[in-house]
Amino acid sequence: MDTIEHSSSPVIATDEERCRRGAQCLAAERVDTGRVGAPSSRPLCDPCTDAVRQALGDAPELYVRLRLGLGDAGSTAPSEQVTKSKGSPLPLNASKLDLTDQLHWLATTWADEVIHTAGRPGPDRTSQPEGAQIADSCQLLLRYLTVWTVHAPVDLNVTRTESITQSGWEAADVLLTWKRAARRNLGLTELTHRPPEPCPACDVPGVLERRDGDDKVRCSNCGKSWTLETYELFVHAWIGAA
Ligand SMILES: [Zn+2]
Ligand SMILES: [Zn+2]
Repeated sequence: MDTIEHSSSPVIATDEERCRRGAQCLAAERVDTGRVGAPSSRPLCDPCTDAVRQALGDAPELYVRLRLGLGDAGSTAPSEQVTKSKGSPLPLNASKLDLTDQLHWLATTWADEVIHTAGRPGPDRTSQPEGAQIADSCQLLLRYLTVWTVHAPVDLNVTRTESITQSGWEAADVLLTWKRAARRNLGLTELTHRPPEPCPACDVPGVLERRDGDDKVRCSNCGKSWTLETYELFVHAWIGAA
């Protein structure tokens, strides 16, 4: 486990010293130019790192639930779209097959990369079922979480003919998006989204909430609520004005 260092320094950090998730950062801050990631000497701040840790813990079970829901669809050949989406965030309505395929690629590819960086021999997965490969890989990424999230960009094979360049924190960010999409696919609706923008009514940041699948955005500070559509108009106006 990492030691968590809390920085309370009021000094405005440069871009290089902020959480790379930017406006998506769980501790994003508002500055003149918009929303920026929380000050952080590492690519991901502590709250975002904690979310990645949680996602690695949750992913193997989510995978099993997705597989159980796949049925015969699991035996169909992956489409071209599937192979292209492995390295980048999937849409929230991604299919179970896209989701299981992406997690398998992301977890095993990065587990291999990280264990290689740590100078350890890689695991032999030839006789392992896919679920066990994912569980072992997520365990390994948990153990080497810091090595992973600071990992420099590397070229990774997505298919035999395609590769992408991805850094460790980018892959971790994809995993966070994967978790949201997987939970949504499985109908696990208790997830609450916390939009990073300040409340349009009381201007307090970090107080907006939206239940996954809900059409309403609500402020936990002043109690006002908006439909998602109206709220997005606010955000566009706000981004346009920034
Ligand atoms: Zn962050
Ligand atoms: Zn409010």
